[in-house]
Amino acid sequence: MRVGLGHDTHRLVEGRPLILGGVTIEHPRGLYGHSDADVVLHAVADALLGAAALGDIGEHYPDTDPQWKGLDSKRLLSEVVAQVARAGWLPINCDITIHAQAPKLLPYKQEIRANVARLLGLGVSDVNIKAKTGEQVGPIGRAEAISCDAIILMKAASNASYTCD
Ligand code: MG
Repeated sequence: MRVGLGHDTHRLVEGRPLILGGVTIEHPRGLYGHSDADVVLHAVADALLGAAALGDIGEHYPDTDPQWKGLDSKRLLSEVVAQVARAGWLPINCDITIHAQAPKLLPYKQEIRANVARLLGLGVSDVNIKAKTGEQVGPIGRAEAISCDAIILMKAASNASYTCD
């Protein structure tokens, strides 16, 4: 088995939709980024790459590459799941903490959880979503940014070829 850790932070700006875990959330501001800036799916993707020792999403999906502009991060995560599977690793469970002063994420947690589970090929009982405020201090607490931490446990596929690219 392998464990992988992922983190992402994006700035909150006017004029962008707020997308967390593939869910579009009602909010006056959204996250700035080259892609759809979904910090949750980016953190999960990096956790997967971490467990498989395959680097990070910045290497595989560089924000200087126009083909990733406006990228739907559900597609990015699906590609990373396939990439780690080719390297012989399958997810077991994933635990996620979203750091956001606002909005309240309770109404969205189950939909985010279901999205992450589906994208990872897991049951919803294998995925957990936690939401924390920044206690009104620091960039999270001042609502300047939203960040996410994800940790994932992976198992070697029984027919793994253990190739890395
Ligand atoms: Mg990101």
